[in-house]
Amino acid sequence: MAIGVEGLSGMPAVLQPRDVAEAWRWKRTLGASAAFVSGGTLLRTQWENGLAPMPRSLIDLRGLPGFSGIDASDDRISIGALVTLSDCRRSPALALRAPALTEAVRVIGAPSIRNLGTIGGNVVSGIGDVWPALLVHDAELEWFGDRGGINEPAEAWVRRFGTASEPRVLTAIRLPSSSNSGGGPFFEAYRKVCRREGFAPSLVTVALRGRLDEAGRWTTCRIAAGGGTANPKRLAAAEALWNGKTSEELNFQSLYQSVEEEYEAASDPFADAGYRRKTAAGLVAAALWEASGQG
Ligand SMILES: Cc1cc2nc3c(=O)[nH]c(=O)nc-3n(C[C@H](O)[C@H](O)[C@H](O)COP(=O)(O)OP(=O)(O)OC[C@H]3O[C@@H](n4cnc5c(N)ncnc54)[C@H](O)[C@@H]3O)c2cc1C
Repeated sequence: MAIGVEGLSGMPAVLQPRDVAEAWRWKRTLGASAAFVSGGTLLRTQWENGLAPMPRSLIDLRGLPGFSGIDASDDRISIGALVTLSDCRRSPALALRAPALTEAVRVIGAPSIRNLGTIGGNVVSGIGDVWPALLVHDAELEWFGDRGGINEPAEAWVRRFGTASEPRVLTAIRLPSSSNSGGGPFFEAYRKVCRREGFAPSLVTVALRGRLDEAGRWTTCRIAAGGGTANPKRLAAAEALWNGKTSEELNFQSLYQSVEEEYEAASDPFADAGYRRKTAAGLVAAALWEASGQG
């Protein structure tokens, strides 16, 4: 183990593990007094706003080998947890095969935040704006934990967000159904609404993904929503109203109502849950209107 900065003048000590197993052992040993840090953009905001205490030790993951590249050599895409949001945005493979994710990272923070902030930090926060774009891809999370490497559907992890007790290091995000080639035309969209136009946390985020088959019917339809402090979630009832229909058969009024009923938005001092549900419903209906060629 290398120790970077010892806790000087009230600042946390920075621990620099040589590999992921050492990082995990440090967290296991130090417990709540230590935190993993990647870009540090979210952690720093939490201390500055008094939302979380500054830990005594930071376990710096940035030097860990093997988790900072995007591998799109086969049908699946594997994104290392340490890949910055800027590098995700610049990836041609993601732009081609997961355009909703490219759009999600494009509208996170300002360039200075995206140059430091990682996709791993965004995912582990549980409410990061990339979440709907991952859910519509049936993404899987790769962790290092007490049983070594662990794979888990992202949807299962986020559903029980905040309840896990054992420490884990996120090592990669995998998009299993990442190929947009072959079959009929693919549609993918990501929309975000903030309190102002740019560089601001989201009020509502939605992502959609579906494919038109040879008969002109929508298949493998996925709709997910998140934003603010709401748990990001797939919207199964709305997906069922889209799946199997031709564009002409889509009933936008029913889809709007379904999203409004199903999306469990959270209220905060800036916007109440009712406003967020209506916004999510409007975004989904409008995106499908465009997808159906009517927009
Ligand atoms: C001005 C500003 C604007 C922002 N705008 C947005 C926005 O529009 N949308 C948005 O979603 N976010 C936004 N953020 C939040 C943040 O920048 C992003 O979520 C970013 O992706 C976090 O990544 P990070 O590497 O900096 O995470 P860090 O701050 O390093 O870590 C975040 C959390 O994840 C844990 N962690 C980090 N990496 C790992 C890992 N590999 N394994 C296990 N645990 C890990 C940390 O312990 C911590 O709890 C903004 C932040 C700022 C300061």
